[in-house]
Amino acid sequence: MGEDCVFCKIVKGELPCYKLYESELALAFLDINPITKGHALVVPKRHVERLSQLSEEEVREVFTAAGKLAEASLEALNAKGVNFWVNQGSIAGQVVSHFHAHVVPRYAEDDLKIEVSAEKLSDSEMRSIAEKIKGKVE
Ligand code: AMP
Repeated sequence: MGEDCVFCKIVKGELPCYKLYESELALAFLDINPITKGHALVVPKRHVERLSQLSEEEVREVFTAAGKLAEASLEALNAKGVNFWVNQGSIAGQVVSHFHAHVVPRYAEDDLKIEVSAEKLSDSEMRSIAEKIKGKVE
C-alpha cells in the first residue's frame, strides 16, 4: 500500500488526474482508460483495499460522490443511465489495490455489454448458502 499505489499518488498530488470532485475523505477523477465517455473513479483518500475496511464516513462520502457524478453525467454528457461497480480482489478484476468505485455513464449508442450467466441452484443449495453467509455476517 501507500508508496507504490497509483491512487495514493493521485491523492497526494504526485501524479496528475482529471479531477472531478473532492470532499474531505474522498476524491473523484476520470478513469484514464474510459469504457464510456465520462467513466470516473471515486476513491477514499485513505488507502484501503476492501469495502469493509472503509469507515462509515468514508462509505458515505465515496458513494455520495458516486451519486453526484452520476447525476452530473446525466446532465452534462446527456448520459441515459449509469453503471456503478466495484471490483474487489484480483479474481473479480481488481487491478489497483486501492478501493475504488467505477461510475460508468451509459448511452443509447454505447456498445458496452455486461453479460452475466445466471446459475440455477436447488432450494436446498440456496438455503445452505444463505445459512453459511448469515452465520458470518457481523
Ligand atoms: P480495477 O480493475 O477495478 O482495479 O480498475 C482500475 C482502474 O484504474 C482501471 O479502469 C484503470 O484504467 C484505472 N487507472 C489506472 N491508473 C490510472 C490513473 N493514473 N488515472 C486514472 N485511472 C487510472
